[in-house]
Amino acid sequence: MQVGQIERRKFDTLVIGAGGGGLRASMQLAQADADVAVVSKVFPTRSHTVAAQGGINAALANVMPDNWHWHMYDTIKGSDYLGDQDAIEYMCRAASRLVIELEHAGVPFSRLDDGSIYQRPFGGQSQNFGGEQAARTCAAADRTGHAILHALYQQNIRAKTHFFDEYFALDLIKGEDDQVLGAVVLSIATGEPLIIEAKTTLLATGGAGQIFRTNTNAMINTGDGLAMALRADIPLQDMEFFQFHPTGIAGKGMLISEGVRGEGGYLLNADGERFMERYAPNAKDLASRDVVSRSIAIEIREGRGCGPNRDHVLLKVDHLGADVIKKRLPGIRDIAMTFTHIDPIEAPIPVYPTAHYTMGGIPTNRFGQVVAPMRHGAEEATPGLYAVGECACVSVHGANRLGGNSLLDIVVFGRAAGNHIIEFLGSNRYHQSLPKRSVDQALARLARWERKGSGDGESVTELRATLQQTMEEYCGVFRTDDVLQQGVEKVLEIEQRLEDVTIHDHSRIFNTARIEAMELENLIDNALATVVSAHARQESRSAHSRVDFPERDDEHWLKHSLYYKEGQRLDYKPVRMKPLSVESFPPKPRVY
Ligand SMILES: Cc1cc2nc3c(=O)[nH]c(=O)nc-3n(C[C@H](O)[C@H](O)[C@H](O)COP(=O)(O)OP(=O)(O)OC[C@H]3O[C@@H](n4cnc5c(N)ncnc54)[C@H](O)[C@@H]3O)c2cc1C
Repeated sequence: MQVGQIERRKFDTLVIGAGGGGLRASMQLAQADADVAVVSKVFPTRSHTVAAQGGINAALANVMPDNWHWHMYDTIKGSDYLGDQDAIEYMCRAASRLVIELEHAGVPFSRLDDGSIYQRPFGGQSQNFGGEQAARTCAAADRTGHAILHALYQQNIRAKTHFFDEYFALDLIKGEDDQVLGAVVLSIATGEPLIIEAKTTLLATGGAGQIFRTNTNAMINTGDGLAMALRADIPLQDMEFFQFHPTGIAGKGMLISEGVRGEGGYLLNADGERFMERYAPNAKDLASRDVVSRSIAIEIREGRGCGPNRDHVLLKVDHLGADVIKKRLPGIRDIAMTFTHIDPIEAPIPVYPTAHYTMGGIPTNRFGQVVAPMRHGAEEATPGLYAVGECACVSVHGANRLGGNSLLDIVVFGRAAGNHIIEFLGSNRYHQSLPKRSVDQALARLARWERKGSGDGESVTELRATLQQTMEEYCGVFRTDDVLQQGVEKVLEIEQRLEDVTIHDHSRIFNTARIEAMELENLIDNALATVVSAHARQESRSAHSRVDFPERDDEHWLKHSLYYKEGQRLDYKPVRMKPLSVESFPPKPRVY
C-alpha cells in the first residue's frame, strides 16, 4: 500500500497504551483541553493494570506512623541502590496527594473503621529507616488495579479523550533531527493501517512478562513499546533486572498477591517449617521479593519442597479465618479455587516463583521524557517522545521493585508526563511534515508479514513457546556465565527461525495471527535485550543473581546498562545518587 493511500488522523498527543500509565497521562491532557488520542490493542479496561491486586503505596499513616522519607529510604534499599534518587524522592513525596486524588476520581478504596483508606503491610516496608514493619499499601480489597483502571477510564470518557480501541501500534514515525511525529497503527478489526500524526507521542505499553513461560502477566504483555523504541534507535535500560514474584500458583504462574502475606499469611516447606525466619530474621515472609524468591528456590533445590515432586512450597492462610479471607482477599480465594481447587480457608496454596515485572525499560527522566545518549554522544531528550509505566525506566525500581510501587509509578509519572507535554505543546504549536521514509519502514514491517500467507514453515505459537522455555531455563532466578552465553545463542537462533514462520491463510480474515507474529518479533527483541544485558553484568544485585559473581560490586557495577538493538551493543551510565531536596542515601549492605 502506498503512503498516500493510507488514512491519516492528527492529534496534539498520541498515547500508545490504555493501562493506568497511559490513562493517567491522557486524563491530565484531556482535562487541559489538549486533543489526545489513546490507542490500545485491547479494550482499555482489559489492560494488565486491571489485574493488580494488592495495592498502591503512599505514606498516609492511616494505620500507624509513616512519612514519605521512610518510603523513599525503603524504595532505594529495595532497588539495591540502583534506583535514581531524584525520581524516587519525587514519587514518594507525590504519593499521598495522588492517592487522595484517585479517591476523589472515584476509586472505591477499602475503609478502616474511622472511614479513612485501608492500608496493609507489604514487603520491604519499614518505619523509621529500616525499623519495624510499616503498613503503607492502600487497597481496594485485592482488586486495587481494577478499581483504579475503571475510575481512570471513566474520567477520560468525561474529559473527551479520543479512544482507538483494538488498534495495534506498529512503529513510531521519526522526522528530521530524530523528532517523533506519531505512529503507524493497524485496525485489528479491518487489518487497515492508519497514520496518527502527533506533536508528542507517549509510550505506555506495559511490560514484557511474556518472555518467560511461567508468568503472572496477561497474554498481551509482549513488550511492544520497548521493541518499538529499540527499532527507533533508542536503547533499553537495565533489562537484566526482571522480577520473579515469590508466590505464583505452582506450575501455572498466576499471581497470589503479596497482600496475602501482608494480611498474615506465611510460607512453609515440606518439614512444616516457616523457613523465611532463617533467611530474613526480621522481615521474614515480608522481605523483599528477590530475597523470598531465592529462598524458595534454595529450599526446593535442597530437597525441602512439597508435593510428590517436591517442586513447590506452601502458602498458609487458613489461620486468618474465613471472615478476613472473604473480606480482604476475595479475589485470591477465587483464583486459588479456580486454578488449584483448593479453598485457602481450609488448606494452604501451593506456590512457586513466577516472572512478574519488567524493571528495565525505555530510559526517561522524571518528566517522562525519553532521555538517552544520542548518536553524537551527549545525553538528551528525544524530542516529542515520552514513556511512562512498566515500559519505562525512570528509574524508581532499580534492581528490584517493591510491591505497591508500580501502581504508584504509573499514576505519578503519568501525571508528570501529562504536565510536561502540556508545556511542550505550548511552544510547539504545529505539526511537522512526515518523512516518507519513516512511514515506509513501518509499512514494510507489515508487508513482510502479509507475504507469509502460506507454506509449511514454523508456527508462531510453537516458536513463542520455545522462546519462553529458553528464557526460563537460561535466564531464570539463578544465572551463570555459561548458561547465559548459551541463552544468548539460543535466542539468536530463535530470531533466525522467525524468518521461516508461516501464517496460515484463514488468519487473513481475522488477521490476529499476523499480530501474534509481530508480537513474537517484539518478544524476541525484549528477550535478547534481557539475556545480553544479564550476561554482561558480572555481579549479583537483587533480581539479577549470578552464582559465579555472588556479591554486589558497587565499585564496578553501580551503574545502569543501556542495550542497543544494532549489534546488540551495551553501554553504561551512572546512577543519579542525588535526590532533589534531601540528603542522599549511600549504598549499604542490604539485609532484611
Ligand atoms: C497479576 C499482577 C498483579 C499486580 N499487582 C500489583 C499491585 O498490587 N501493586 C502494584 O503496584 N503493582 C502491581 N502489579 C504491577 C502493575 O499492575 C503494572 O506494572 C502496571 O499496572 C502497568 O501499567 P502500565 O500502564 O504501564 O501498562 P498496562 O496496564 O500493562 O497497559 C499496557 C497498555 O498498552 C497497550 N498496548 C501494548 N502494546 C500495544 C500495541 N502494540 N499497540 C497498541 N496498544 C498496545 C495495551 O493494550 C494496554 O492498554 C501487578 C501486575 C500483575 C501482572
